[in-house]
Amino acid sequence: ESLVVCDDVARTYGTGPAAVVAVHGSSCIVGSGARIAIAGPSGSGKSTLLHLMAGLERPTRGTVSWPALGSGDERAQDIGVVFQSPSLIPALDVSENTALPLVIAGVAEPDRAQRVAEALALLGIDQLAGKLPEEISGGQAQRVAVARVLAQRPRLLLADEPTGQLDRAAGQRLLDALLDATDHLAAALVVTTHDKAVIERLETRWTMHEGRLHTTIAPAVPS
Ligand code: ADP
Ligand code: ADP
Repeated sequence: ESLVVCDDVARTYGTGPAAVVAVHGSSCIVGSGARIAIAGPSGSGKSTLLHLMAGLERPTRGTVSWPALGSGDERAQDIGVVFQSPSLIPALDVSENTALPLVIAGVAEPDRAQRVAEALALLGIDQLAGKLPEEISGGQAQRVAVARVLAQRPRLLLADEPTGQLDRAAGQRLLDALLDATDHLAAALVVTTHDKAVIERLETRWTMHEGRLHTTIAPAVPS
């Protein structure tokens, strides 16, 4: 089952001589249950590709489709995105931060509280539920960011350099948590990273170089 299909996508920022081609004709398929690392140097287009996969940006050429996911709001629920910095709301405690996307999506109690509790437990941070962001460490805050997307119960988790601001040990713990959680939800995981220790933990390893994605198998895009 294909969750995301990128068919010859390109994304350019700006126009004329100042235009930057962030992603060049790149194709790939993310199947259900896949665990993919996208490695490559800074500026190679990893974040842009991830945003295209998430539907947060539109390609300037080619198409991105989500054959197995719904459309509109339904698709937004099916795709969880974790960014490099956790962006928690300072005035909300950990459980309120985790619940926020569910509040916005109109998920009612008691379902909402149950999903939040499940997500916090999956990340091993139930004991932080009542803490404010300023009271927790950077690694813990990144776990809250992961819990916040897991509470959505996404089928596809896209993480953009999730360990980029953590030390090595905290990065490994976060990755353990991401792998456990995606297993538990039977979700697919795509992680952009330039951390070797992260790349080695994922079965499928793709690379990006100057805007071009290199996949391990030639992508056969179904017509
Ligand atoms: P990576 O995630 O591999 O570091 P990015 O996708 O962030 O790469 O960036 C790829 C290229 O696109 C870089 O040259 C970057 O400066 C440029 N870029 C990314 N986002 C924007 C934007 N919103 N506006 C202009 N240029 C951008
Ligand atoms: P971070 O190291 O940023 O807190 P984690 O949230 O992954 O990253 O931490 C997991 C566990 O490691 C926490 O439960 C905490 O008890 C422990 N821990 C975190 N930082 C320290 C530290 N500076 N010294 C000792 N233990 C720590």
